[in-house]
Amino acid sequence: MFFFIGGIQPKTVTIEKQARSCPSCGHFDVSLKRVDHYVSLFFIPLFPVKRGVPFLICENCNTVLDERGYSMGAEHPVGEKRCPSCGREVDTDFAFCPYCGKTLS
Ligand SMILES: [Zn+2]
Ligand SMILES: [Zn+2]
Repeated sequence: MFFFIGGIQPKTVTIEKQARSCPSCGHFDVSLKRVDHYVSLFFIPLFPVKRGVPFLICENCNTVLDERGYSMGAEHPVGEKRCPSCGREVDTDFAFCPYCGKTLS
C-alpha cells in the first residue's frame, strides 16, 4: 500500500552573506535570507511552491532587518509615519489611513 506523507513546509534559505554589521549588537555577520515554501514528501522538501520576501538576519542576536538594513522591530525607518488620528503606523504612500480612514496630511 502506498503511504503518502506530504504537504507544504517552510524552508529558510540563505541567499548571501551581507558585508554589513548588525545595528543592534554590532556583530559583523548578517545574512540575507528568505523563507520559501516547499512541497515536501516524507518531510523532504522537493520543490519550491512559494518564494518569500528576502530579509536580513543577524547570526549573533537574531535581529531581523528588512532588505534595506532597517530594523523590523521597535525602530521606525525613515519613510514611515503614524496616523495622527489613531496613532497606527502607515505607509507614506497612503492618502488615507487604512485603519481608521482618516485623511493623512
Ligand atoms: Zn546582532
Ligand atoms: Zn488612523
